Amino acid sequence: MLKVENLSASYQTIDGDVHVIKDLDFEIRDNEIFGIAGESGCGKTTLLKTLYDIVEFPLVIDQGKVILSGEKNGKPFSYESGQIRKSWWNNISYVPQAAQSVLNPIVRLKKQFLDSIPAEDKKNETEEQTLARVAKYLEDLSLSPDVLESYPFQLSGGMRQRVIIALATFMSPNVVLADEPTTALDVVVQRGILMMLMRLQKQFKNTLVIVSHDMGVHYQITNRMAIMYSGSVIELGDTEDIFNDPVHPYTQMLVAALPRVGDKSQKVGIPGRPPALKNPPPGCRFAPRCPKATDRCRSEVPKFREVKPGRFAACHLLNEEVGL
Ligand code: SF4
Repeated sequence: MLKVENLSASYQTIDGDVHVIKDLDFEIRDNEIFGIAGESGCGKTTLLKTLYDIVEFPLVIDQGKVILSGEKNGKPFSYESGQIRKSWWNNISYVPQAAQSVLNPIVRLKKQFLDSIPAEDKKNETEEQTLARVAKYLEDLSLSPDVLESYPFQLSGGMRQRVIIALATFMSPNVVLADEPTTALDVVVQRGILMMLMRLQKQFKNTLVIVSHDMGVHYQITNRMAIMYSGSVIELGDTEDIFNDPVHPYTQMLVAALPRVGDKSQKVGIPGRPPALKNPPPGCRFAPRCPKATDRCRSEVPKFREVKPGRFAACHLLNEEVGL
């Protein structure tokens, strides 16, 4: 399980701190596909970095922490922010944004696999035996083991993405984090990548966290999802419920703007722009764009609360409805 406790993080710049994620509190469960959605610049990738513990200057955690816990091979484990990197590959792995370009283009893939497998996991075998395991794993994923002899620049973008996913999942980690895994790929390849991720999650019964600005990706494969806006999670719940019955005004407008099969009505975007994170408005950050905003919204930050069973949202109107 990944538990995000009261987490805020910012980027330190010469013009002052930019608070990119603020007061996040939620859980990602074992054995689920969890989506993180939101417009560009809302803090999705920064959140993913804090989940994976890649917190390096200028990014700093201002408060709170992430806790990664669970059980692997019968042994319980628990790591907090600052220690999570000790569990990289084994308990948690990361498929970064533009993953196709993170492979070293001039190093054969077999070396990149060997370098990424923890010494502990290969201590009782020769290099050939380790590579034989990798080849078998690639075959299980319908990838030719011949790719191990290739340099990344010899592969297509879709193939490189598949190889990265194979690399990230080889140690069957409890949690896999994927940042925009289908961006910059054509539609057919995108579908193949999503199918591969779903298949692996089912096989390992682990947790897959997908960050994507594409709501279609979330609709197709996630079980639960969080909607982010301007550095905060503003709604969280079962994906199907969020698409069928969004409760937060931002999610309602986001879902209403999505094209649907057979619906010929004209779609309109959400007017206005997200606020600058360096100088956000007081109160609810969505207030300047929200048709339901009140004076209270413009002065008081709404708390993120459970507004119906399993559904969490940050909105004064919803909190008032349930007497908060
Ligand atoms: Fe709109 Fe107010 Fe709810 Fe913010 S708190 S989403 S401004 S109604």
